[in-house]
Amino acid sequence: MRFSQIIGNDSLKHLLPQMVDQNRLSHAILFSEEPGCGGLPYALALAQYVNCRDRHDGDSCGKCPSCYKYEKLIHPDLHFVFPVNTSDIISETEKKRPISDYFLPKWREMLLANPYLTEQDLYDGIGIDNKSGNISVFEAKRIIEKLSLRSFEGEYKTMIIWLPEKMNQEAANKLLKLLEEPPAGTLFLLVSQAPERLLPTIRSRCQLIELAPLTKEERASMVQFAQPREFNPLLIELFNAGLNRDLQATFPVWESVADLGREKQRQFCLEAETFIRKIYMVANGLQQLSNVGNDEADEIQTLARKINPAFYKKGFGYFEKALSAIDSNVNAKLIFCDLCNRLLLSL
Ligand SMILES: [Zn+2]
Repeated sequence: MRFSQIIGNDSLKHLLPQMVDQNRLSHAILFSEEPGCGGLPYALALAQYVNCRDRHDGDSCGKCPSCYKYEKLIHPDLHFVFPVNTSDIISETEKKRPISDYFLPKWREMLLANPYLTEQDLYDGIGIDNKSGNISVFEAKRIIEKLSLRSFEGEYKTMIIWLPEKMNQEAANKLLKLLEEPPAGTLFLLVSQAPERLLPTIRSRCQLIELAPLTKEERASMVQFAQPREFNPLLIELFNAGLNRDLQATFPVWESVADLGREKQRQFCLEAETFIRKIYMVANGLQQLSNVGNDEADEIQTLARKINPAFYKKGFGYFEKALSAIDSNVNAKLIFCDLCNRLLLSL
């Protein structure tokens, strides 16, 4: 992520690169924010900036091999810690001592779709149900192991700790030791929504950067940013064809999706789930909470009036099924042809 892509707290877009350029960057930074104000995006942009090979105009280039890996969140020197708990998406052995690494694929997927994700979004996404996440001592040990290795490619190893206030006492003490004697070339970026709950000794070892709440306008544009809607035209076409019971009209849709790469097919399904959620909320009078953009409001209103109330749960399930079929390498034409048929019968 580049600084220029972040919404809100614009002064940081100059301050943070300047700190790097003038060699004034502390080895540990504590971003303090209200939920959803951009703490994670700023941590990501800073991590990308320090390792970019072609920094210019106060931002990372977004194109060099390092930026490429940062933008996909797969750089070997970029580490994440966030609160977790047991969940059905990890193995029985992993359930005994759940740590962030076990949830990385889902974390990456969620963060790429929405770097402003909330704590609850994370828990819903990784399926820890009603349990609360925490950062355990096993996680702290894992942090020490990772940081004892040399950086693989970049100048810095970056450890982004999201919601460090979820650390228990034992984990916090281990982290404190690391902050007292940081391994060479390590940058700690803590993003906290309750810094008062951190050990005072941890706080005092970090440079504090407070993010201001976003303005109403910034929040409005964040919604657009957070929810890609690349496939809205196809989804609208598909849903209208389904409502008209026009099987023939669904063919171009499923054929064009089947021709895409797997990542795009996944994105199509994820966007479809968000799309269904929005229609459902509008149909149930929750327009205010539905995050419907101005450019899609009319179509969503129309669909909300026409769609059978029994559809939503089923429809959501069909896309979930398609997602797991994509992951299992089922033939894409079969997946999307079947999906279209089912939608047609249930809308
Ligand atoms: Zn770069």
